[in-house]
Amino acid sequence: MILVKTAEEIELMRESALVVSKTLGMLAAEIKPGVTGLQLDALAETFIRDHGAEPGFLGMYDFPNTLNISPNAQVVHGIPNDTPFEEGDIVSVDCGALKNGFYGDHAYTFPVGEIAPETQKLLEVTKASLYEGIREFRLGNRVGDVAYAIQHYCEAHGYGVVRELVGHGLGRDLHESPEMPNYGKRGRGKKFVDGMVVAIEPMINMGTKRIRQLRDGWTILTADGKPSAHFEHDVALVNGKPELLSTFAYIYQALGIDSDEEAEFRQTPITL
Ligand code: MG
Ligand code: MG
Repeated sequence: MILVKTAEEIELMRESALVVSKTLGMLAAEIKPGVTGLQLDALAETFIRDHGAEPGFLGMYDFPNTLNISPNAQVVHGIPNDTPFEEGDIVSVDCGALKNGFYGDHAYTFPVGEIAPETQKLLEVTKASLYEGIREFRLGNRVGDVAYAIQHYCEAHGYGVVRELVGHGLGRDLHESPEMPNYGKRGRGKKFVDGMVVAIEPMINMGTKRIRQLRDGWTILTADGKPSAHFEHDVALVNGKPELLSTFAYIYQALGIDSDEEAEFRQTPITL
């Protein structure tokens, strides 16, 4: 059953999403060669609690940490460890926070120092595909329209679109109905209505779409060992249109990046 949110609930969810956005912005300034996932994890847990929220992933399905940290060939659900990041790595950081009873959940793939041009392109295409998907999250469209847009965009670049892991509805539960796959057919699936809130999160591989899982029961990797990227936003359907609740603006502020990519998806302006 899809749980539709009231305007008041959507504003609470914006608060939850922004705790995550600010956390990712804080981490953006810390991610460099020599830093470890466990160091980021400790920073994130303190930061989230200092902002009146609780880590959303810690203890969820027995996950041991605050962040999912998935470098290079890891797709998602990596467990933070003490291996230092190296120049040229990419690191996918997925973060959840629970505030006022609602979850925020979003993710960004960070370059560590200078990365290879083909890896940079993977990041750019994956992030662009997220917006291709968000653009289809509007009144009267269906889950398949978002799914098709992401799949079509990424496959046109020759990338593998992960099938086994999907986006999701978001609210008082981290994972609500409907599932939001990154592949599918136009016009299929659940119809979008005002008040829906979803996490859209393309997981895109440079090579094969096939994945495998480590024996830790969590870490998902590409089957061919090539890199994978993951970008995730929380989006509400308001006045028939997508309204971004999360933002990468704190990341861009930390990294000195000038971007207006979110402007078309924001009815309420964001103040940093
Ligand atoms: Mg996430
Ligand atoms: Mg998610």
